[in-house]
Amino acid sequence: MYLLPNEKQYKANLHTHTILSDGKLTAEELKEMYKAQGYQIMAFTDHEFCVEHQDLCDEDFLAITAYEIATTDKNDPEKRTYHMNLFAKDPHNTKQVFFHPSQINEKRYHQLPMIKCDEHKEREYSVECMNEVIRAANEAGYLVSYNHPTWSLQNYADYIGLKGLWGVEVANGICIRKGYEDFQPHVFDDLLKAGNRIFPIGADDIHNPQHAFIAFIKVASPSLNYGDVMNALEKGDFYASTGPEIHSLTLENGVLSIKCSDAVQIRVCTQGRRRYVTDSLANGGLISEAEFDIRAWFDETAERKNPFFRIAVTDERGHAAYTRAFFRDEVTEAFSSAQL
Ligand SMILES: [Zn+2]
Ligand SMILES: [Zn+2]
Repeated sequence: MYLLPNEKQYKANLHTHTILSDGKLTAEELKEMYKAQGYQIMAFTDHEFCVEHQDLCDEDFLAITAYEIATTDKNDPEKRTYHMNLFAKDPHNTKQVFFHPSQINEKRYHQLPMIKCDEHKEREYSVECMNEVIRAANEAGYLVSYNHPTWSLQNYADYIGLKGLWGVEVANGICIRKGYEDFQPHVFDDLLKAGNRIFPIGADDIHNPQHAFIAFIKVASPSLNYGDVMNALEKGDFYASTGPEIHSLTLENGVLSIKCSDAVQIRVCTQGRRRYVTDSLANGGLISEAEFDIRAWFDETAERKNPFFRIAVTDERGHAAYTRAFFRDEVTEAFSSAQL
């Protein structure tokens, strides 16, 4: 069983701001910058403004139609806030959900005639309202990610009740560069343990060139076609990283095999205390492949709530790659022959 499909991997930055909101560069400049560094996919996620940049697509580059919404607690002196990215499954879908003109400042009022929405709707800072927004976004054909929880000053109570999310940022480039702890797989784990089939995202959230090339995802897709890539994203055929690359990931007869770039540790994390870890930290050598017999995890989790495992790879600089979580019911067939 291929946990990461045996397809070409495309490098993507799914969080980008241009001069259409508070970014310093144009979409064209960003495309050239990222292409030069080996990226093939960018989602343009300007604040409260969904714009299709399909004119930027070429045979080696795909622009994903998207935007970012912010819902801030006005009563909080620290202004805690929900930021979410909405990624359109249809490249020409730019109709926004829960938009209200008060969400952009006066300097941007000239954009109002270009903002498409059925009706103006205010958002308020609450889990209930955010769940309405996520539901409306899903119905309108968007995948929704939950962004940079640490910068947003959010804690468990703010996110554990969210439903319908597709992804969560485990690494946000600008926040990391600015000194926030926005490299945080624990939020990902919390959401997984609550039963959410949610995927990890690494993205730069670039506003100016200093935020480029910090966090990314690699998507395994049959092609760079918009539909193929969005389908791969929706299925979770990708991993997040701030450096290490995962070349292959398979599971056969209960044995998990991974090939990756040079690492100091490869580990399998589960929903519980059980971990499978390479011993290279102790031995001091670099490794680029590993095998783990995880049948014990499978055997002991039949009655557990939301059992899953996920894989993490750490390199010499402390950079890390994170796979999605694989829930027990998704991988049962890769254990069946081992049990006969
Ligand atoms: Zn944000
Ligand atoms: Zn952003």
